[in-house]
Amino acid sequence: MKLPQVNEVRKPAKTLAGVTPITVVVKPRKCDHGTCIYCPGGEKVPQSYTDKSPAVMRALMLDYDPYEQVRVRLKAFRLMNHPTDKIELIILGGTFLQYPKKYREWFIKRVYEALNNKESKDLEEAKKINETVRHRCVALCIENRPDNCSEEEIRDMLNYGTTRVELGVQMPDNDLYKKTNRGHTVKEVIEASEKLREAGFKLGYHIMPGLPYSNREKDFILFKEIFDNPSYRPDQLKIYPCQVIQDSPLEKMYKRINFIPYNEKETQEILEEMTLMIPEYCRTMRIMREIPPERLVSGITRIDIRREIEASLRKKKEKVHEIRMRELGFSSQFAKDIDMNITLNVLEYEASHGKEFFLQFTNKDNILFGLLRLRFPYKPFIKSLKNAVIVRELHVYGKSLNIGEKGEKGQHTGIGKQLMIEAEKIARKNGYKKIAVISGVGVREYYKKLGYRLDEDGIYMIKEL
Ligand code: SF4
Repeated sequence: MKLPQVNEVRKPAKTLAGVTPITVVVKPRKCDHGTCIYCPGGEKVPQSYTDKSPAVMRALMLDYDPYEQVRVRLKAFRLMNHPTDKIELIILGGTFLQYPKKYREWFIKRVYEALNNKESKDLEEAKKINETVRHRCVALCIENRPDNCSEEEIRDMLNYGTTRVELGVQMPDNDLYKKTNRGHTVKEVIEASEKLREAGFKLGYHIMPGLPYSNREKDFILFKEIFDNPSYRPDQLKIYPCQVIQDSPLEKMYKRINFIPYNEKETQEILEEMTLMIPEYCRTMRIMREIPPERLVSGITRIDIRREIEASLRKKKEKVHEIRMRELGFSSQFAKDIDMNITLNVLEYEASHGKEFFLQFTNKDNILFGLLRLRFPYKPFIKSLKNAVIVRELHVYGKSLNIGEKGEKGQHTGIGKQLMIEAEKIARKNGYKKIAVISGVGVREYYKKLGYRLDEDGIYMIKEL
């Protein structure tokens, strides 16, 4: 790789959302229920990935060593001149909660040790050290199945320092689940969504339009249901239209069942329309899996179709509500003069029997500078959350800055603090005496400055009001 010039940031979009993402891949393992028909992998590479995905290729080279994977990515980001203080860790591959508990704990401990550049006696110590080191984990994401979200499994995820859980939902329909061998039903999706939210996690869904046995009309009905029905209403989406991938069960059967994936034109039309259906509280994290063309048997090869979708929506001057297209960092690429006068607005909605408050600072063009997700829980099962409200996410947008660096727009300009003050006001006004925050371990110092302390189980940052 040709080294960048001084101050030249390579691939600037990677840290535009305000954090530096590092993906760590777990070793291959088959899911307990078998294989969903569209899913590749599982023998030499983790299930649902191929040996040509960049993160998997790196992991393969490093023998799936979590420590080495993190160190290599940190070095790459440094060489590309990206900040590396605020790290978002993404644990990727298969169903992490189905791996043996010992492996999971070892894996997460090694990931923290790599950020800390120091070994620890156990996971607790590794997390503690990470609170004050240079490369702090500000968010940790785990991909999971809806039927691996028992209270015990949720406690395990909390112990790892997890802040976001992504559920494979595809399309919430029992008939489709059965025909595609998902191994769970809609009931598990609803229950998992509620438990995860009650524990304060940010909730992501992986969605798959164009499944075999579905059709365009059914896809739109189910997609609409995801936001109309308060049992779902995820905070984030990854939208992966169904493709026929080598080594998946679908490869062997797609001709027999006359399955034809959406073509490029259909995909673009459908995803444009779906993007317009996404409400203000939800962010589209990604569109299209990173499946290399040589591993595709049938389906579109355009990994970057998202650009076309967004460009087309901008050209048509459509009003997009979803978060990513409104974010300050993202919008700065297309608007020269961004109005810096911002106001707070609060969207209230019901989700999983609880009440959600989505606080956002926006300008007159609805460009998003910062957001906070506050929940009044329904039946919290975690001791520290009894009688408390919970902040599930605090995020300030703009280019990622190093800790202590002064910001001009977005990050490090006091927006985060202001959002926390507003959340506390809402809690007090509604008679609550305690507020809790699910915090990446590397953000605990920030909350301490705002008067929060770690709860006795060492999980949430809490404050008496
Ligand atoms: S649950 Fe996910 S990883 Fe497991 S087989 Fe299904 S799609 Fe693949």
